[in-house]
Amino acid sequence: MTRPSSPVSRPSSLPVKRHGFLLVVSAPSGAGKTTLCRYLIDIFPEIRQSVSFTTREIRPGEIEGRDYHFIGAERFQQMVDAGDFAEWAEVHGNRYGTSRHVLAESLQAGEDILLDIDCQGAAQLKRTVDSAVFVFILPPSLAELEKRLRGRGTDSEEVIERRLVNARREIVEAHWYDYLVVNADIEQAAEQLKSIVLAERCRAARFTQPPASWYGLSGPNK
Ligand code: 5GP
Repeated sequence: MTRPSSPVSRPSSLPVKRHGFLLVVSAPSGAGKTTLCRYLIDIFPEIRQSVSFTTREIRPGEIEGRDYHFIGAERFQQMVDAGDFAEWAEVHGNRYGTSRHVLAESLQAGEDILLDIDCQGAAQLKRTVDSAVFVFILPPSLAELEKRLRGRGTDSEEVIERRLVNARREIVEAHWYDYLVVNADIEQAAEQLKSIVLAERCRAARFTQPPASWYGLSGPNK
């Protein structure tokens, strides 16, 4: 059997259009979220990545507008007051928010959009965006998470301890997400994430017209 090389799941000759969706990915620090999100964008380069606004300092290697929009606390508050954020939260002492305008624009254009945000922000979107899909990436164990955080060799003991406390708090939130991906093996976790995107793209409710109309048949109500 020959396998299709493209992940597209329906014949391209059909005049099929679908609505975009938000793919919200959360994980405790050290679970592998950044690597998995990069993998996803490599396979599906058409997925747009939401660039958040943040009050935290820019880190070496980060680029304004690519990694984040780095803004001051005052500007952030103005945006909160103006209702510019679809969600926002304070994480590790800094504020982060997602532009309402960018999300609306992407969904309108039928694009899928990836949001790498914390549980507090995800919970806000769960209440307000019907089409969103929520994925939580879990470490195989707390011991393994600690090992990974220490293995990075970049953070102080205090930072590691804080991340572990936060990780416990975040894992407690994981139960309401739509999908759980345990990152014990990065390739397997990446395959699972890819499968989630493929399945979600096939959801009947996401198509703008009923299948009958794709074939020129009269619809179910006629
Ligand atoms: P970092 O500062 O290490 O890039 O991100 C810290 C945490 O903030 C991560 O868990 C990340 O998912 C979360 N985060 C990034 N952008 C947003 C956002 O727009 N909203 C929320 N709620 N969390 C975000």
